[in-house]
Amino acid sequence: MPAGGEGELTLSVKMRVSPEPEQQQALLNLMRRYRDALNYSVRAIIASRALSLTKVHKLLYNDLRERYGLPAKIAQDCYREAIAIARSWLKNPRRGAVPTARNLSMWLTYEEGYRIKDNHMELAGGYKLRVIGWDRRYDDFPNREARLVFRDGRFDLYVTKRVPRPAKYAPKGVLAVDVNERQIVVGNSSVEQRIETPVERALRYRRLAERLQGKYSSSRYSAWRRRSGVRRRIRHFRRKTKNILEDWARKVSHTIISLAKQSQLAVAREDLMGLVESLRELPKGHRTALIALGYRRLAFWLDWQAEKNGVPLFVVDPADTSSTCPRCGAKLVEVGYRRLRCPSCGLEADRDTIAILNIEGRALSQMGGSLATPTAPQVTDVSPNRWGEPVNRPKGTLAL
Ligand SMILES: [Zn+2]
Repeated sequence: MPAGGEGELTLSVKMRVSPEPEQQQALLNLMRRYRDALNYSVRAIIASRALSLTKVHKLLYNDLRERYGLPAKIAQDCYREAIAIARSWLKNPRRGAVPTARNLSMWLTYEEGYRIKDNHMELAGGYKLRVIGWDRRYDDFPNREARLVFRDGRFDLYVTKRVPRPAKYAPKGVLAVDVNERQIVVGNSSVEQRIETPVERALRYRRLAERLQGKYSSSRYSAWRRRSGVRRRIRHFRRKTKNILEDWARKVSHTIISLAKQSQLAVAREDLMGLVESLRELPKGHRTALIALGYRRLAFWLDWQAEKNGVPLFVVDPADTSSTCPRCGAKLVEVGYRRLRCPSCGLEADRDTIAILNIEGRALSQMGGSLATPTAPQVTDVSPNRWGEPVNRPKGTLAL
């Protein structure tokens, strides 16, 4: 799903909301019924292959109203979300089990499912929530569909907006980003900076989850122990692992994009095939999986932040970026741990520096040798997954 129309970006603005105390329990109950109704609807839609609004309305509306007690507008939003999930599941050739929603999260249409008035959010069915704080930069753009999420004891509303795509400046040079299994390197012919990754920290939580899972899947434990509490803790550790990588990717990409913007540079990164290639040399395991996850998230946030900030971004061919001489193109020879030398021009440097110079060079030649605005900006075709499983969402939106 593209990130918006030609000249637009779709983004989501997070609003912290809070129900009236006397309505909180009722709202949570509604969200639970919505979740159950959603899971029921997805299965019913897939079983009947009814994907049009009219058919699904006939199939489900009464059930959602009567069995699940959803207010009319919420029932409609519920089956709309179910259609979106069913559609993308049916479209996926490698689909596994039918996705099951576990989180408390409701998809809402603006004006019908929810409305924002002054400092309040009104939810269909007579619920009123106070809006506590939000990013006001996008206030002038109309609200579109939204998602109300209850997590860790608080309610957040993610409101979709469409904003004009910022114009890209003509870059004065390139800031190259290279990833390897230990760190990322950011730089060009005049500067260089190395940034550590949180893979080891993430790995600790991953291992905790594994250990718990191993221990309690044994038949020595009664079924109820294997369920509930332990499962929740395993999920907690897994989520923690993902969050560590996600936070890191977000912060680092923000730093890189700000740096580029400050100096009016373009950002260049290798395409993700380069990552796959370099991971091939590593032993398969959790560490490799986490490295891959971290870098995919980094690439995603880099592309998005670049779009949002009008920073030109280039994705270059990763072939031989760390084995070709950036000055003359000859094949480099190894002269020490991660050190390379060019037999024909004598250049000698660290493997990562070589990669940076090559990525810079490739981006410059993509610009046609001259530092002008690129005519074909990279498309960020993305579907971020802010809410954990399932990945399917009614519209392709990007979170800020
Ligand atoms: Zn050379």
